[in-house]
Amino acid sequence: MQPVRELVRLLLPVACPCGELDVRWCARCAALLAGPPVRAERGAPRLDRLDGVPPVPVWALTPYTGPIRDVVVHWKDRGRSDLDRLLAPALRRAAVRVGPVLAAALGGAPVAVVPVPSTGAARRARGREPVAVLARAVTRGLHDAGLRAHQVPALARRGAGRDQVGLGARARGRNLAGAVRMTRRGVYALGESSVCILVDDILTTGATLAAVERTLEHAGHDVLGATVLAATPPPAHETEPGATPAPGRLRGD
Ligand SMILES: [Zn+2]
Repeated sequence: MQPVRELVRLLLPVACPCGELDVRWCARCAALLAGPPVRAERGAPRLDRLDGVPPVPVWALTPYTGPIRDVVVHWKDRGRSDLDRLLAPALRRAAVRVGPVLAAALGGAPVAVVPVPSTGAARRARGREPVAVLARAVTRGLHDAGLRAHQVPALARRGAGRDQVGLGARARGRNLAGAVRMTRRGVYALGESSVCILVDDILTTGATLAAVERTLEHAGHDVLGATVLAATPPPAHETEPGATPAPGRLRGD
């Protein structure tokens, strides 16, 4: 290596979160985000509802495994907001591909793109709301697909909600029960009844999305689906690569 280049690296180290040096993100990690989005709700046990309605459809760009975990953690919690430029375009492209499926169910009606809110503590620690970046990308992608989509930060966490880090699945469920509320802006922007698409970074147990879905439904709104960057894969025998629902029938196919 050239001595000057070595010195520059010491001063300004740059690496993909997976460890590959001298690039902000590597081709391998970018390829993992190239899609297409696949249905992921079967891997999230806490999305199961008790009322017989199938779980909300979730489209994920990639499994939450391997280097993608590093990418998401560095992006959210280690100051790598420059990875917006990798992740936002990837999710926008995913939204373009999901658009026609949603359009068939919407029949020309507008759709509200609702980011899943972070806890206040997480937002303060990060100094920003990374999921809002993803929600903007999804809104643009749905626009690209011809939908009347608008981003509505309709929700906030209740003060008592602890951050999820370090909590097991059951504790997460308890922690989140009732921990999401509508904001005043959300009440105003969603009106009496809106159709919503949720956006989050990762889908693990589904407890967060389930709490958000309940909150919106109690307020009179419909949740058509959710898009996430990455999802914990379901057990291998349940995997259905590329599963895409028939138009107008999103839940439970
Ligand atoms: Zn990488």
